[in-house]
Amino acid sequence: MERKEIILAKLGEIALKGQNKHVFEQMLVSNIKRRIKSLGKFSYTRAQSTIYVEPLEDSCDVGEALNRMQKIFGIASLSLALEVEKNFNDIASKAAQYLKDELDFARTFKVLAKRADKSFHMNSPEICAELGGYILQKFPHLKVDVNNPDVNIMVEIREKHAYIHSSKLEGAGGMPVGSSGEALLLLSGGIDSPVAGYMMAKRGIHISAIHYVSPPYTSERARIKVERLCEKMADYCGNIRFYCVPFTEIQEKIKQHCPEELFTVIMRRLMMEIAQMIAAKNNLLALITGESVGQVASQTLMAINCTDAVCKIPVFRPLIGMDKTEIIEIARKIDTYDISIEPYEDCCTVFTPRHPKTKPQLAEVEAAEAAFDFSELIEAAVENTAVTTFSPNR
Ligand code: ATP
Ligand code: MG
Repeated sequence: MERKEIILAKLGEIALKGQNKHVFEQMLVSNIKRRIKSLGKFSYTRAQSTIYVEPLEDSCDVGEALNRMQKIFGIASLSLALEVEKNFNDIASKAAQYLKDELDFARTFKVLAKRADKSFHMNSPEICAELGGYILQKFPHLKVDVNNPDVNIMVEIREKHAYIHSSKLEGAGGMPVGSSGEALLLLSGGIDSPVAGYMMAKRGIHISAIHYVSPPYTSERARIKVERLCEKMADYCGNIRFYCVPFTEIQEKIKQHCPEELFTVIMRRLMMEIAQMIAAKNNLLALITGESVGQVASQTLMAINCTDAVCKIPVFRPLIGMDKTEIIEIARKIDTYDISIEPYEDCCTVFTPRHPKTKPQLAEVEAAEAAFDFSELIEAAVENTAVTTFSPNR
């Protein structure tokens, strides 16, 4: 390999963990491995709150690995570093070459040195002073600024080699997916629920998704849209098991037997019941929705109370206090927005009441729901649920 670059991934919140830190680190390393294994052979080394990802063959696509790693939770920042021989002359000349483009356009710089190998003949302040002098000579337009430099030149002296890098890329933050257990996301084709899934995955939850369809009122294309959302989300969330629930008959029976103004709240209660049954069968410990207080009639406090009354496991609503503009900002960032705004119908928009009750009482909802025994239909819906798995794009 002529010029060898490696990826340095600085740990985020994991770095603050105590005795079980290595468990989180191992999980992060296996998430990285899974995500970049199709790009060639890499080695993985952990030291000082950093994971060193090193390409082992010329054909490794390091640039794409860096892109993919920007979407892996648990990493605070990333940099590409040049591997050089452990002697000062090599370090100085290669640093000047490697960072030439950045230094040409900068006005100020600073050198930072880290010496993991204490046997190296120069200590960190000596490296900084010598390298700083060399750079000033090569780039006479530059000045040193230790407080707020345009470019930070980082030199790390490690066991076998030295590494040079400068700017850092922002990582995805959060905790490694899988480190906080598994939960079931109620995923519609809208803007909110993919963002809700992303936010809980960021906290380390491995997500499965459940989606309710009502053919022929909802189309095949509406379902495919949600599957495409799953694929997008998988870049951040890892593999997503997707449960697609046939919901037509249940919706028709609600329409036939229950008062129109309570249609939506009853439908949402039945969605929650089905989601909990699927969660129980698959060891998923919580539900996640994209609800935000006051956004629509079914998201008033009274309506949420009526919905939650059937829930025996926790329901996470990470968007509950967010404005639509804040949610849209995240949807754009994770690239789900353009898919979400495609105009396909959702089962929630089928049979929507003209005047949904915004302040439903639990007692009246329970009484209305009792007009029909939904239990057999619920079991049939669970029974006939189709399961597929979506993986990150490769
Ligand atoms: P979204 O933008 O996520 O569709 P929304 O603002 O349109 O949300 P609702 O349609 O009231 O709100 O849905 C509230 C939540 O219920 C959604 O965020 C999602 O978690 C869940 N949900 C709605 N429709 C479906 C569906 N067809 N399948 C699965 N979950 C759904
Ligand atoms: Mg919706």
